[in-house]
Amino acid sequence: MGKEIVYYIDGDGIGPEVNTAARKVLDEAVKKTYSGENSLEWKEVFAGEKAYQEKGEYLPQESLRVLEKKANNVLKGPLTTPVGAGFRSLNVALRQIFDLYACIRPVRYFPGIQSPVKNPEKVDMVVFRENTEDVYAGIEWEAESPEAKKLISYIREELHSEIDPASGVGIKPITENGSKRLVRKALNYAIEHSKPSTTLVHKGNIMKFTEGAFMNWGYEVARDEFGSYCHFDEDAANSGNGILVNDRIADNMFQQILTRPDEYSVIATTNLNGDYISDALAAQVGGLGIAPGANIGDDLAVFEATHGTVPKRAGTDSANPCSLILSGAMMLDHLGWYKASTNIHQAIEKTILSKKVTGDLARQIQGSSLVGCSELSDLICSNLD
Ligand code: NAD
Repeated sequence: MGKEIVYYIDGDGIGPEVNTAARKVLDEAVKKTYSGENSLEWKEVFAGEKAYQEKGEYLPQESLRVLEKKANNVLKGPLTTPVGAGFRSLNVALRQIFDLYACIRPVRYFPGIQSPVKNPEKVDMVVFRENTEDVYAGIEWEAESPEAKKLISYIREELHSEIDPASGVGIKPITENGSKRLVRKALNYAIEHSKPSTTLVHKGNIMKFTEGAFMNWGYEVARDEFGSYCHFDEDAANSGNGILVNDRIADNMFQQILTRPDEYSVIATTNLNGDYISDALAAQVGGLGIAPGANIGDDLAVFEATHGTVPKRAGTDSANPCSLILSGAMMLDHLGWYKASTNIHQAIEKTILSKKVTGDLARQIQGSSLVGCSELSDLICSNLD
């Protein structure tokens, strides 16, 4: 409690507008919730176009040093992928340099927003998606390339597995360490937030030594490190004796999130499954545009909107800041300032129900009236308790 130093990366495109709006709401929420006893002190870290203009580099060494040595929590606006800067994407670079191995996406419904399903309010899940392995390892070779031919001939001749010589090939690495640290984070979250269950989602019926291994290692962590907090008996799910740890095959899980969403709470999964499932869930509550997220490692947590820079809206004060505001609320949760985070959720609920929203949400809410990015953040501030 007291003053907490936090960092921010403004971002490109609509980044500076939504970041200013988010910082304003977060400051106000902390001030109101704790009657001025707590506060956030913001420090800027330069990255993206602003860094290029001011320091001549998209990701200056000075910024990397601050992130490595000083920062624990960062609120990050979206960044454009610069052309010819020597790395695929600034977002990927940050994830890799700081080993932000857990991508966390909470998904809940905000009343008033149109949804494609009948009972969107039954969705309240947090997806923990592994962020460094599986397809994100990015290891693949084009069909007929010398590398693909070499690998295929090794597989055929040395490992005696059938594979069409004309294939493009990719490698899907999944490790014990990578799986266990992700599931450990999910279980810690479930315990801290008194969640009823954690579900390991995998495709282990087909890929036993990658997806199946993820499930086995996940159960191992639950049994060996969280044994006194967990149980594994589906029938005892509601008996109040700790967190139910279960697993589902990915295709079944996609049915379950539609048919029985209220039976799932925390999901821990591999990279590709997590990619699909977090977007499917966000679409289910009609809120892809306001979905928050975070990429978290052991030393650094980066809280960021799931949308991009929306260049056509840059500088027009018309973007929706809610995704970054809710990512900021995740940061407050991470700091243990749960009440301020809840206050923000309730204020956004009230604001959406008042039907004064930005253009993207207005399309999903009948009879709504349009406000800009800064006005929306003022309305949210006025709805804070
Ligand atoms: P985008 O999310 O920027 O835009 C897609 C569409 O979604 C927009 O046309 C807009 O209609 C709508 N939208 C998204 N967020 C909105 C908001 N807050 N308010 C109002 N409307 C919103 O995706 P894109 O066009 O594919 O990408 C544009 C740039 O953003 C690219 O350079 C991409 O690399 C970058 N990007 C960055 C991140 C990140 O930093 N994490 C994520 C995605 C894309």
